[in-house]
Amino acid sequence: MSIDLSYRPEVVELIARTELFIAEHVLPVENEFHGDVAAAGGDDLRRDLNAKAKAAGVFAPHAPVEFGGLGLTMSERAPVFEAAGASTFGPVALHIGAPDEGNVHMLAHVADERQRHEYLAPLAAGDVRSAFAMTEPSPGAGADPNALNTTATKVDGGWKINGRKRFITGADGAGFFIIMARTSGQPGDRGGATMFLAPAETEGISVDRHIHTTDKSMIGGHCEMTFADVFVSDEDVLGAVDEGYRYAQVRLGPARMTHVMRWMGSAVRAHKVALGYVEQRQGFGGRLGDLGMIQQLVADNEIDLAAARALLVRACWELDQGSHASDATSIAKTFGAEAFSRVADRSIQMCGGLGVSEDLPLVRIANELRPFRIYDGPSEVHRWAIAKRAVGRVRKERQE
Ligand SMILES: Cc1cc2nc3c(=O)[nH]c(=O)nc-3n(C[C@H](O)[C@H](O)[C@H](O)COP(=O)(O)OP(=O)(O)OC[C@H]3O[C@@H](n4cnc5c(N)ncnc54)[C@H](O)[C@@H]3O)c2cc1C
Repeated sequence: MSIDLSYRPEVVELIARTELFIAEHVLPVENEFHGDVAAAGGDDLRRDLNAKAKAAGVFAPHAPVEFGGLGLTMSERAPVFEAAGASTFGPVALHIGAPDEGNVHMLAHVADERQRHEYLAPLAAGDVRSAFAMTEPSPGAGADPNALNTTATKVDGGWKINGRKRFITGADGAGFFIIMARTSGQPGDRGGATMFLAPAETEGISVDRHIHTTDKSMIGGHCEMTFADVFVSDEDVLGAVDEGYRYAQVRLGPARMTHVMRWMGSAVRAHKVALGYVEQRQGFGGRLGDLGMIQQLVADNEIDLAAARALLVRACWELDQGSHASDATSIAKTFGAEAFSRVADRSIQMCGGLGVSEDLPLVRIANELRPFRIYDGPSEVHRWAIAKRAVGRVRKERQE
């Protein structure tokens, strides 16, 4: 196995352009509004930053070239998304944030020609936002997607969808939804889910309330929703009926890695802030950065960041080879999500009182990072899957 760690000159140049764009146009707004994207203008801010990103040639680098993107591979996305993640508003500015980025990826792989024209094209261009509606209140789908309770019942010319969803990122103001609903079997069965495309104005779709969480950088909130007798025509079934879980895997593996990329940028920023502080802060006859216990915190941050990056590179390489990379993405996601929280927390500690103040961005970075240990699969579920596969491999070898 060989992995080439060098990037094409165009990508190297794009990384530099992205860093400059974030520093000039995005960080000042994020700092002014303490990372609260709604307070900073929500969709008005998004449209303004998207226009600036287009002018700077850094908009939607992941989108297919035919839809105006740069068509970067997963490996090429990693450093560019990390550069964007240096600001918590960076992903919105470049239109590479969740859930739109993952939805562009999935539609590019699964949508038919008409759906590509009607849904993917305006999404890739940033004309509309989208949302991915899977999670449900108990006893429905959550960490266990098979618990899916929302139903789609066959009617003449299409389907009627009924159910409730929660934590649907970007739902408020989304142009359309990708809805996961059960088309066969019972809650708890492994298969039987289908994905449906529905414009937001479809009768029966309602966004009931925002669930207020620790993070503030994603536009359109994390919402509770109701789908009441929502009619979706046959032509708006995404892919094939009963294949929803398989398509979810197309979306989830890469989407986990792009989260790691973006949050890597935030963790690196937190570490840099702490380094800047301990390098100059005087005390005990010297500088904090020369004290052994501070050096340990610095070194542990360096180790966590380097290890997370190595796992990410490996997982992206596997995805680029066409593999599902189930193990590699689970490992990189679990380690990255936990490592970045550790990095943010150590960085807060190193900066003393300022660390927990709004003068520095550290607390808001920690608050943004915390939910990542829960969404896209809680750490426990990934560990369970990793262990199950490891034991399964040994069992298979023994049987053979
Ligand atoms: C900020 C944010 C954004 C989100 N955005 C979206 C979105 O856009 N679309 C969407 O559909 N969903 C979204 N979600 C939902 C997210 O995917 C779920 O929260 C996640 O899958 C966990 O489901 P749950 O909250 O129902 O937790 P539960 O399923 O109730 O699990 C609770 C806890 O139990 C533990 N646990 C669960 N299973 C196991 C196991 N097998 N072994 C050991 N421990 C276990 C874990 O610690 C887990 O955190 C978002 C969530 C958050 C917080």
